[in-house]
Amino acid sequence: MRLILLGAPGAGKGTVAKMLTAIDGSVQISTGDILRAAVKEGTELGKQAEAYMKAGDLVPDELIMGIMKERLKEDDCQQGFLLDGFPRTIPQAEQLKDLLAELGITLDAAVNLDVPREVILDRLTTRRTCEDCGAIYNIKSNPPKVEGVCDKCGGKVVQRADETEEAISKRLDVYEEKTAPLVSFYEKEGLLLNVNATSSEDVVAAIKERLGI
Ligand code: ADP
Ligand code: ZN
Repeated sequence: MRLILLGAPGAGKGTVAKMLTAIDGSVQISTGDILRAAVKEGTELGKQAEAYMKAGDLVPDELIMGIMKERLKEDDCQQGFLLDGFPRTIPQAEQLKDLLAELGITLDAAVNLDVPREVILDRLTTRRTCEDCGAIYNIKSNPPKVEGVCDKCGGKVVQRADETEEAISKRLDVYEEKTAPLVSFYEKEGLLLNVNATSSEDVVAAIKERLGI
């Protein structure tokens, strides 16, 4: 399957993407994970992105498009892909459209994960992430078996640097201003699937129904 996952921070894009990869081997492409890995490794990309991320701001479109142009050409994408956290702005969406046309790829849908703001705030403050493999936990509803240790890879499970209350509120504002307009962009493209995303299982069911799988 070839999907874009849209939705506010904490809407569950990463969780849904991981559930979908298990269905048909499509790869999850998370620009957030790619950027965090670059920051951790101290690469040139990481150095350029770090300050924006820490403040809860978007990384400039040119940097993101540079990453995605390369990523979408890789072999594992032939099987299908789930774009998690990209596109995030109208210019990114427009450039993605051109890029896909160039590569001869058609999207199945752009899925909007719709979740009330109170739920989002609660999820983000209790969310924890594995530094090494990106696995997502929640200290209330889905803690790792051993506190602070990833069940899947043994990596360290931490609160992200941009998950302080201040950065979260900034990220939600940035989402409203820059990313929410993508919902009507994809509606006009005839690709939008709007789903109530309070439960990730329901989102996966709605996507399967839409794709007829
Ligand atoms: P979330 O969806 O929970 O906000 P992500 O892991 O997708 O978090 O992204 C973390 C940060 O990485 C963002 O706040 C932003 O700084 C940067 N980022 C990720 N994807 C993009 C993108 N497509 N465009 C610009 N910045 C991005
Ligand atoms: Zn891990």
